Amino acid sequence: MSKIGVFICWCGSNISETVDIEKTKAALEGLPALDYIEDYQYLCSEIGQKKIADAIKNKNLSGVVVASCSPRMHEDTFRNAAEDAGLNPYLLEIANIREHCSWVHSNKEKATEKAVALIRAAINKVKHNQPLTPGSIPVNKRALVIGGGIAGIQSAIDIAEAGYQVDIVERTPSIGGKMAQIDKTFPTLDCSACILTPKMVEASRHENIQLHTYSEVARVDGYVGNFDVEIKKKPRSIDEDKCTGCGICLEKCPGKAPSEFEEGLNERNAIYTPFPQAVPNIPTIDRDNCIKFEKDKCGLCARVCPTDAINFNQEENIIEEKYGIIITATGYQLTDPDQFGEYHYNHPDVITGMEFERIINAAGPTEGKLQRPSNSEKPERVVFVQCVGSRDKARGHSHCSKICCMYTAKQAMLIREKYPETEVYVFYIDIRTAGKGFEEFQRRAQEDYGVNYVKGMVGKVFPGKDKLRVEAIDAMTGEFLELNSDLVILSPAAIPDQKAGDVSRQLGISQGASGFFTEAHPKLKPVETQTAGIFLAGACQGPKDIPETVAQASGAAAKAIGILSKDSLVNNPCVAEVNQAECSSCFSCKEVCPYSAIEKDEAEKHGMVARVNEALCQGCGACTVTCRSSTINLKGFSNKEILSEVDAICL
Ligand code: SF4
Ligand code: SF4
Repeated sequence: MSKIGVFICWCGSNISETVDIEKTKAALEGLPALDYIEDYQYLCSEIGQKKIADAIKNKNLSGVVVASCSPRMHEDTFRNAAEDAGLNPYLLEIANIREHCSWVHSNKEKATEKAVALIRAAINKVKHNQPLTPGSIPVNKRALVIGGGIAGIQSAIDIAEAGYQVDIVERTPSIGGKMAQIDKTFPTLDCSACILTPKMVEASRHENIQLHTYSEVARVDGYVGNFDVEIKKKPRSIDEDKCTGCGICLEKCPGKAPSEFEEGLNERNAIYTPFPQAVPNIPTIDRDNCIKFEKDKCGLCARVCPTDAINFNQEENIIEEKYGIIITATGYQLTDPDQFGEYHYNHPDVITGMEFERIINAAGPTEGKLQRPSNSEKPERVVFVQCVGSRDKARGHSHCSKICCMYTAKQAMLIREKYPETEVYVFYIDIRTAGKGFEEFQRRAQEDYGVNYVKGMVGKVFPGKDKLRVEAIDAMTGEFLELNSDLVILSPAAIPDQKAGDVSRQLGISQGASGFFTEAHPKLKPVETQTAGIFLAGACQGPKDIPETVAQASGAAAKAIGILSKDSLVNNPCVAEVNQAECSSCFSCKEVCPYSAIEKDEAEKHGMVARVNEALCQGCGACTVTCRSSTINLKGFSNKEILSEVDAICL
């Protein structure tokens, strides 16, 4: 005979404002299995949890229903409270009367009716629940970090310092990411390379860190504690063991291509290191632009290389590794301003903020001299255009790119500092400076450096004979403005890295509407994903400045270390099981399982039948609905349990 206790949470007033708690209790009282009912303002609080635990002990309850927020929020909290009171935690069910009821309805009467139905369904289910016992899985104490920008580097160093092995996989020939391209950082104006390069060197020299540059993750299988990963090492056409990084080959190469690091503002050779401080300091041959690969001629680099390190026949190499956790730090990219024809980005004097970073950098293509790319003259007037594709749902992206207001203030200050006679205008929708010291920094640009801020969007940039004519409306005065400018600098929207979709599919993590990876919970689990053991660091989760990126990278590392420090992990007991005596060996389940958890098993008496690898099974239930002989059961979600819930709502 079941003895079920029901606990209804008000969630402050989140639930009680829309669901009539007294009427709900009255409607449930008298249900045959119901032995105890209580409500409280915050069941997740210590007092609330104690109420549940006390009732379990004092009333000798055989099952508990907590009617509250989503199980994503507090399922573990309430199950732990039940376990502490001596009840198997899987004999506790949550009826979600907040996200599924009070938050989505305004009619109190109907919301109360729905809350009653949801709680009755949970009572019906918990009557059939069976006690479940989690298994344990071993943890491989090695970490994989995907992406070698500042986020990936910081996470890797933190994990390595804690004593665990870390591999960084970086798609380009060097670690460093976007931060390596930036001249100075806001709000302190310290040199970006000066603070980044020591970290790059530290990562490359750390005994616990292995770099896989010019490499990509090709395949990921497995689960938390035991990920099987294939890393594709693209051929650099250089024998890394022989190369000393002398750079003689770079000087002689006649093959040319636009430099990615210099944002296409000048050329690099076909054999190249992306920038002088690149780590590792080993060249790469860009086969698409190499004369040897194109025409089977040249080969100069091989002739001049003193250590015979050039290897035109090098092939792609696949490395297989096992990891306990994965940190995704794939960063961001800037949207292509070409899609906004009104700004005429195809004109040489219309550039992006990142191109400006290279122009103003002493090691950049103009050696730090501010010049118009069209004629190398110093600009008399510069116009910055904010929100190119950001906060523009109709044509671009609805999100705010977060960093542009601040880097524009910095760039405007750098211009005024070096060239006080150059006029600078910034056109903006709103100025957003919510960071430590950010507001003061932006005000300095206006008040101390005389940067002209105009609230209003630029409607069009017209390329004239010599100047660019910028047309805009001043939103404060309604005045139509026309400015002749020598240089227009756009702030394109920050969007997810081009490979984010592939990474999302490989890792089974989700992307939000803007394409950035989704955290498990925006407030309480900001670095975790819905897939256990996979964490997020940096701008792959949303636009971030450098301090925020570094903080989140360290947060992800701390969570990762929490797993790596354990020898084994408790595994979810809500997994599928096959009744092998009834399996018809069709293996439809094997085809649909997204986690490759169904295996073929040579069972005594039954021949080749399906078997579930419980360590791989994530309990998604795809196999149970596919099985034609209904022989697969999902523990904790059996047909009996689900159908009795449906009965409570429908009958
Ligand atoms: S073989 Fe290719 S990489 Fe080497 S020098 Fe010639 S063009 Fe450059
Ligand atoms: S429930 Fe079935 S389909 Fe889903 S992961 Fe487990 S075995 Fe695979």
